[in-house]
Amino acid sequence: MIKESIYGLTLDQLVTWLGEREHKRSRALQVWDWLYRKRVRSFSEMMDVNKECIELLADHFVIQTLSEHLRQESEDGTIKFLFKLQDDNLIETVLMRHKFGLSVCVTTQVGCNIGCSFCASGLLRKNRDLSSGEIVEQIMKVQHYLDGRNQDEKVSHVVVMGIGEPFDNFKNLIDFLLIIKDHKGLAVAGRRITVSTSGLADKIIEFADANLQVNLAISLHAPNEELRTRIMKINRIFSIEKVMQAVTYYLKKTNRRITLEYILLKNVNDRREHALELAHLIGDKKHLTNVNLIPYNPVDEHSQYQRSDLDSMRAFYDTLKKQGINCSNRLEHGTDIDAACGQLRSKQIKKM
Ligand code: SAH
Ligand code: SF4
Repeated sequence: MIKESIYGLTLDQLVTWLGEREHKRSRALQVWDWLYRKRVRSFSEMMDVNKECIELLADHFVIQTLSEHLRQESEDGTIKFLFKLQDDNLIETVLMRHKFGLSVCVTTQVGCNIGCSFCASGLLRKNRDLSSGEIVEQIMKVQHYLDGRNQDEKVSHVVVMGIGEPFDNFKNLIDFLLIIKDHKGLAVAGRRITVSTSGLADKIIEFADANLQVNLAISLHAPNEELRTRIMKINRIFSIEKVMQAVTYYLKKTNRRITLEYILLKNVNDRREHALELAHLIGDKKHLTNVNLIPYNPVDEHSQYQRSDLDSMRAFYDTLKKQGINCSNRLEHGTDIDAACGQLRSKQIKKM
């Protein structure tokens, strides 16, 4: 019998599971505390949980399913972990240091089927979805690493921007969010969590309805249908028009700001007319929208794309600002260690 990861259970699910086996809610809370506050790595370390319960848990669940395959540290403190899953698939998780705290970027799928033309993750088709436990465990592994350094550091922010399309693994994504947000556990505040999607419009609506109070970012990357279809083939299914309709619904339902991500690709989408078109597209959603301009991280296999030069990036930013659009430049992290998602993994797989 393959045992499930205990990290895949929400607190309610753990309470129910133990409850069905005659264990009280208080016991589930003890176990939860050992997992997420004291952060033990084996059931036998749960000192005040009775033996019978420990045995029951150990018979059905495991705590550790990921093993560290490789770790790369960048000069700016960014650390990239390559984890091996139980079935030997490799995934990436990145820890970034910011002035405001420590953020972790998690992977949701092994590979990605959306196949955007500029992305390293899309080069390798999806092999499988990650379970909620495997997504949570990425954060726990990083937190265990920090705990081991004894500097009292805690993961404060989470971005779902690693390999994969989170909305193509929707149910596990939602459970993951419920688990890491839980007040009695890791307690990562919703406003410190950002989920990024390539724009699966139907799921944007479901996500709004789920009312999780986390941030949403949409990878737009082009201001018109023709250009977006050229660089992101998903636009044939979920056009900009459909995405923006879903965004309208999301804004109304949640009253939260939304981020539009925009990678600047030299001579492809970085001209002044593109910035003006983007401003026009955002139109009356200005007050609830933030555009995040991202420098392109070159991928060997996508040599048709180059990073925009600094002047073009600045001009694009200035044009948006003049149109009254909230706009920020994403700081780069760990460019010396292939930190753009999926790059380390794709290089390792090529070597294998
Ligand atoms: N699948 C989701 C989340 C993972 S990708 C999505 O597409 O949104 C996270 C972000 O990294 C996306 O905005 C994506 O477009 C961007 N990205 C992908 N390849 C990149 C590259 N080579 N350089 C810079 N950003 C990249
Ligand atoms: Fe998948 Fe996102 Fe990469 Fe597109 S950008 S291929 S959706 S991971």
